[in-house]
Amino acid sequence: MGIRPVVPLRMTPAVKAGKANPPQCDHGTWTFAGSDTKRGASKWRCPTGECVPASVWVKAGRLHTLIPRGTDRWKALYHQRGAVERGSAGRSTSGRCSRCGCVGCRELRCMWT
Ligand SMILES: [Zn+2]
Repeated sequence: MGIRPVVPLRMTPAVKAGKANPPQCDHGTWTFAGSDTKRGASKWRCPTGECVPASVWVKAGRLHTLIPRGTDRWKALYHQRGAVERGSAGRSTSGRCSRCGCVGCRELRCMWT
């Protein structure tokens, strides 16, 4: 089956048009350069650094997650999340974060602590 996204991505026209893909330029596909959860955005960089600007912040959303799909980090997270959900049937009714156990914690933030 290959990779399944953590957040299901419907094949909307925008997705089909490649808007969920990393930015690209004449130098190639831009590389993921980290995320800032406070900004709610991920940073992408021109592969050669020749573009101006050489990097951009992409707001996280349905099409762009803070952790790009398909990266090692994403895979690890996905497998980890799957294991948690199998073990505890997902988020508990108490609303505690399944990762760190704190109340009201957003799991996205937890990923980076
Ligand atoms: Zn470029």
